Amino acid sequence: MKDAKLVLKANPDHQSIVSLSKEIAIGGQEIVIIGGPCAVESLTQMETVARELKSAPIQALRGGVYKPRTSPYAFQGAGLEGLEILASVSKRYDLPVVTEVMAISQIKEISAYADMLQVGSRNMQNFDLLKALGQAGKPILLKRGLAATIEEFVMAAEYIMSHGNPNVVLCERGIRSFDSYTRNVLDLGAVVALKQLTHLPVIVDPSHAAGRRELIADLSRAAIACGADGLIVESHPEPEKSVSDAQQALSIEAMTQLVRSLKPVAEAVGRKTYGVQCPQFAIV
Ligand code: PEP
Ligand code: MN
Repeated sequence: MKDAKLVLKANPDHQSIVSLSKEIAIGGQEIVIIGGPCAVESLTQMETVARELKSAPIQALRGGVYKPRTSPYAFQGAGLEGLEILASVSKRYDLPVVTEVMAISQIKEISAYADMLQVGSRNMQNFDLLKALGQAGKPILLKRGLAATIEEFVMAAEYIMSHGNPNVVLCERGIRSFDSYTRNVLDLGAVVALKQLTHLPVIVDPSHAAGRRELIADLSRAAIACGADGLIVESHPEPEKSVSDAQQALSIEAMTQLVRSLKPVAEAVGRKTYGVQCPQFAIV
């Protein structure tokens, strides 16, 4: 870690803010909630998610179109068609979108449609990809590797930054351990450590950490309580029918309830939540 020149805090107040759009930024006083399905499946699915969750409110949309699946026979993502769906829904509902980039060859195409590029857990140490993303000109959501140490995670961010991109957000998404009850183990200790060590925003993905929908709301509140700058949570209009990660997908109702429950938690630790952006969705 002593090698890290760009990622570590220069002083205790050093905090970077990464903008997703004119209105939405990660790392400031407001926590940012990114919601949406594991994978983009159809226009109807993404329309429903965006329309319903805009008023929750979430601040950005997720949805994979290039999916890193364990089996080569599983759905690999909707590709370009998925990107077009993401972009049209993003525009209509004024929600920035984040989607995963798996290869250098996809960077240009995805950058034309998405507001933030996600590096998945399996690619955290794909150093050539990280170097190329240094030149992407888009903010990067860097997920922690399945079994990466905090130092390896920090150094992966250093790769992107040292190649020219200062807009990196770290994402703790659970690490492998011996217990198969949960999919992974959510490492909130790492969130606290990364907030102390680095100036980069840190968000938490409780969905891939837990792998079980009944654990997600409490883990989300715990993440905000320990200082996370936001959350990325999988949510689907028909969770059981989700083509991937169905067991961890939250219904729209559960997601809305979760988002609303975060306000007092955020305020208890000196943070705020975003209000609804569109006046017609205003809630009191
Ligand atoms: C995802 O967010 O869709 C995903 C595949 O997550 P991870 O890379 O953390 O497994
Ligand atoms: Mn998923």
